[in-house]
Amino acid sequence: MGKETAGPLKLLRETHEQRVIAALRTQGALTRAQLAEQTRLSRATLSVIIQSLLARQAVTESFPDETDGPVVRGRGRPVSRLTLNAAGGLALGLDLGHRRIQVTIANVAHEIVASDSVPCAERTPWPRRVKLALDLVDELTSRHELSLGTLAGVGVGMVGPVPTGRNLVLSGRPAEVRDAVSERFGVPVQLDNNTRLAALAEALWGAGAGFGSALYLRLSYGVGGGLVLGGRLLAGATGAAGELGHISVDRDGPECPCGGRGCLERYVALATLLERCGNLLEAQSPQAHDLLTEAGTRIGEVLAAACNTLNPEVVIIGGELADTGDHLLDPLNATLRRYTHAQVHKNLKVTRAALGADAAARGGIALVLTSPN
Ligand SMILES: [Zn+2]
Repeated sequence: MGKETAGPLKLLRETHEQRVIAALRTQGALTRAQLAEQTRLSRATLSVIIQSLLARQAVTESFPDETDGPVVRGRGRPVSRLTLNAAGGLALGLDLGHRRIQVTIANVAHEIVASDSVPCAERTPWPRRVKLALDLVDELTSRHELSLGTLAGVGVGMVGPVPTGRNLVLSGRPAEVRDAVSERFGVPVQLDNNTRLAALAEALWGAGAGFGSALYLRLSYGVGGGLVLGGRLLAGATGAAGELGHISVDRDGPECPCGGRGCLERYVALATLLERCGNLLEAQSPQAHDLLTEAGTRIGEVLAAACNTLNPEVVIIGGELADTGDHLLDPLNATLRRYTHAQVHKNLKVTRAALGADAAARGGIALVLTSPN
């Protein structure tokens, strides 16, 4: 709006401002020095932008309480931290999962202001799932006295593939869901697969916080994953990047609904493992121990190939199967290290996911907060 008439200098400043806002959105509170480092802008440029943001109350500046520790540095000036103004807007994350509908609401300062879920039967039709989510939004906003008048956007996680590549037009079920949500709130709605959104939230705010690149693998009734580089979810050409569950581990193995054969998911999906051993979590039984060793080894092989390709800083293991702990992770780690290049596994951290069942909804919020508009 009106950008056509703006001169090149104005446009340049807006782009720089977007970098500052994006850094605060993704990192939370930052000092000016940290902002300069994150945005690679000069102190002078940054100073002009911060003054403008403060004047518009898009950003607030706070000085640490003296009880927080030393506040004086160098020439004795206290170091302030800048945050996006919490009253400046809300972001809504919805996760339309197989068995659960999750709704989480955060403000632009990254604070979660409301979150809850309702169960839903596995074959619940999509319009009904959307209705359950929207009803829960109404319930939460009234319970917490929130106004969605300042809603910045909605991020929605769905099961199944969601085409998210550049220039792709949504159709079918994802388009219907997007239209229903967008009609209700009148703000931009972004969609992605819910496992990939969990990957994004884990990388930004969970076990991957502080790492530049994270590979996330979710081991549940399905097996999926996502790769987050520099705070952004890698989409690939069609939004299918990170489908680690459909890497074949046996070309003569059982057929998979994806069209392949012997996919990792056929061997380590929770239902398959539970069929073979009902008490998986009681891994003191030799049968469960053997099964988890076998599963961990297969997963480690697939992760080794992925890590040799992507060289991530951290591998995050999520989903219910991760609750079996070291019984799964020890063989997984050993195999991963055995089949990766030394340079790849030298500093590689393998860790369990840190966020809970709301990870995908929080990933939806991350989509809103990190979108460049
Ligand atoms: Zn498959």
